Amino acid sequence: MKKQYISYQESLDFLYLMEKTYPNLIKIIKIGTTFEGRDIVLTKISKNVETADSKPAMLYTGSVHAREWIGHELALKFIDYVVKNQNVDPELEKSLTQSTIYMVPCLNPDGYEYSRKHFSFWRKNRRKNHDGTIGVDLNRNFSIGFVKQKDTSSNVYGGEEPFSEAETRAIKDFVDAHDNITIAFDYHSQGNVFFPAHKFMHESEEDGTDMNVLCANMNDEFAKVTGRKYGIHRGKPPAHLISGSGREYYYSKGIIAIVVEVGTKNIPDYMKSMAGSINENIPALKMAFGEVVNYSSLAPSRVEEFTIESRDATSVKLVWKYEKRDDIFFEIYRSTKDKDACNERTRIGIAGDNYFENTDLASSTNYHYTIRAVNKNSGYKSPFAPVVKVRTGLEDDEFFKLIFANKSGTGYIGQYTQEQNRSHFGLNSLFVGINKSKGICNSVMSFDFDSIPKNAIIKSARFYLYPMNRVGAKIEKFGQWNLSLLEANSFSEITDFDEIENAKAKGGIGQAIKSSQLTQGIWNSWTFSRYECEQLQEEIVNGSVTFRLDGPKTLPDGEDSQMMQFDIGYGQFGGGIHYRPILDIKYTVENEKIKLSPSTLSTISVQSITNGLKSGFDKEGNRIYGYLDFDLSQLPDPQNTIITQCALRIKNKNNFKKKSDVRYYVELVELDDVKSYNDLKNREQIEYIGYEVAESDLKLKESQYFNFDTLAKNSLDMMHQEGKTLKLVIKATSSLGINNRIVEWSEDAELIIKYIAKRRTPVASVQNFKISKENKMIKLSWDKVEDEALKGYYVVRNSFHPPHHFMDGVKIYGGKDSYTYDNFASFDKEKYYAVFSYDDVPNFSAPVTTKYNPLEKY
Ligand SMILES: [Zn+2]
Repeated sequence: MKKQYISYQESLDFLYLMEKTYPNLIKIIKIGTTFEGRDIVLTKISKNVETADSKPAMLYTGSVHAREWIGHELALKFIDYVVKNQNVDPELEKSLTQSTIYMVPCLNPDGYEYSRKHFSFWRKNRRKNHDGTIGVDLNRNFSIGFVKQKDTSSNVYGGEEPFSEAETRAIKDFVDAHDNITIAFDYHSQGNVFFPAHKFMHESEEDGTDMNVLCANMNDEFAKVTGRKYGIHRGKPPAHLISGSGREYYYSKGIIAIVVEVGTKNIPDYMKSMAGSINENIPALKMAFGEVVNYSSLAPSRVEEFTIESRDATSVKLVWKYEKRDDIFFEIYRSTKDKDACNERTRIGIAGDNYFENTDLASSTNYHYTIRAVNKNSGYKSPFAPVVKVRTGLEDDEFFKLIFANKSGTGYIGQYTQEQNRSHFGLNSLFVGINKSKGICNSVMSFDFDSIPKNAIIKSARFYLYPMNRVGAKIEKFGQWNLSLLEANSFSEITDFDEIENAKAKGGIGQAIKSSQLTQGIWNSWTFSRYECEQLQEEIVNGSVTFRLDGPKTLPDGEDSQMMQFDIGYGQFGGGIHYRPILDIKYTVENEKIKLSPSTLSTISVQSITNGLKSGFDKEGNRIYGYLDFDLSQLPDPQNTIITQCALRIKNKNNFKKKSDVRYYVELVELDDVKSYNDLKNREQIEYIGYEVAESDLKLKESQYFNFDTLAKNSLDMMHQEGKTLKLVIKATSSLGINNRIVEWSEDAELIIKYIAKRRTPVASVQNFKISKENKMIKLSWDKVEDEALKGYYVVRNSFHPPHHFMDGVKIYGGKDSYTYDNFASFDKEKYYAVFSYDDVPNFSAPVTTKYNPLEKY
């Protein structure tokens, strides 16, 4: 094929040639005639194409906007690929056997030709409007959310009424007559971003995960070809969502519908950039084509009520509902990233029963899970259950804080916008990069450390930033975006461009984002290395920390913009405070240490109990136990103290010249009466504390340390809470039957306990959690929890099930007030809310949940 954009006539010639050459695979039908009299054609592609309409199908539309040439070009290249590989690639062959592709390479032939020949920036079709202006934006002429505009000359003028245009009527009639379509792609340019369909609300839909996953899986295909990753974005708040588009029309018919915005320019350099965009989309479309059957009536039904049953620091148990069937199993997917793929890379297990336990996880980490049912016989898979977000719990000595960027210290500073820079703070999106009007733009984000104790030791940290628009980043493979931690005293005025541009960075954080990875709609995160955590920790004493994000600082000749826009959360331009930059820190604090002396030291033998600590074997080979106990009430208040480490230190007074196999163990004893030799000897429950001393150690080391293992440490912690006395026995063991061998231990034995001050249990749950309506919003309110340890309340919304923990849904609120509004909630959709109260660890209370029912009056 030629290496330049093709004309519409050449396109038709190619399609009819394909039909003629591959009559069993390809069939061209005419679905309409344009204002200027051109044929609008649709290509059916399927093995045994006469049966195409009886199989599940994928719809592809291209170049509905005249100047967005790639949709047309990609369709033709894809058809070329399919005919050449139909009997080569077994996956493709299978898909072509079981499914169908309907392709309209160019839905706007008049506009396309006008754009090619006369005015490349043309967007609409070429109809003559009643007032003499030309053109209707076809992607505003569909019925769903249609808005009638006055200005007919506008680039987004949607026509007199829905489906007033031949092109939209043609595709509508076809789609209405083909309910076998399950997935639809509408190809546009530009932005390297997927826009899944929406219902004009900002709430999760049951099939929202399906759309995100389909896009993310296509991203994995792109990565293999060009390393590129597209954004996945459902768009701005409802008022700004586009109306009357084809995507929402297809979606209204139950079709998974996605707009793909390809490339960084409407009409990119064909050989330099367009070819790569096409090359990456071909395997992605092929993969998506393979999914078509999974959204048809042939596929198993979706798993229901997928949720978390329990979780701790290192494991999560997931449960769901599904009819018990021998021919069904489940695939479970997990990722720590937002909107990640669900494929071989992220499939962590399969299950036959309706639960799955995921172990060996990292503490205090966000995991995203989803699941699909698979039919063993057909191989067909169900749609995905809505993603469940889980944050694993904390280890005993850990705390975490999610710190949000503060308003006054967060904004962008432009080289040519010196006068306005101050006013950007807390209001405008974060622009980072360079363009002709603003010059170089840096962004700064500041975080207060008042919730972190001065003695914190940072164990891990992540920085999250939400990229909201990448349309201004117009150059492929140019520049990178770097996050760095600024030295606190290296700038004095945060809103001054030169000060920030020249501020000294302590170092970069994580990996820079390359231009190919600028993904709007997908949370970006930077993980701090061990060294970067230390640098962050040094800033705690300053009470706050400031990060700078900077991008490219020059533009190649002839280019005007390489600018990325991130959300600040605040102000009228953002997606709400949920989208603020976040610093997620897991830390511990320095341990306190206490040394306890034993209250009792004794030696228990068959004959007697004597003072002093000895252990070994008597003359008859009977065991002699050394016994010691400790009063744990010397430790601080158990409700606010957690034991992190423990060791028993004892010194031996004698040792032996002759070698033996005797080894000494310490056991934790839970007997009421340890004075009875037989009780001690015959007790069933024995708990080793996990460390042993060989006889050779008696000579080599001055003191013997018996370190408690996790189970023993946990038992000790429990005994402290229950106000019990710690009872230990030193027991000699031998496999050879030794006698007359006794070690005498010195009286200055001590128990060395390390602990931290940390609240053990959450504050009480709230009471009287209520829903009301106020100012056209859902209002949630509850009674205050009177407790000094209370740090705030956390409110979460979940559209599918009652939230089980604080990350299980969309965060609505976090703070000290006893009410909040859900700004974006729809009155028409059922949903659940939960409120959690939390302390400074934070420990979260059990959820208090309520269901919003659209039929009820509030
Ligand atoms: Zn477009």
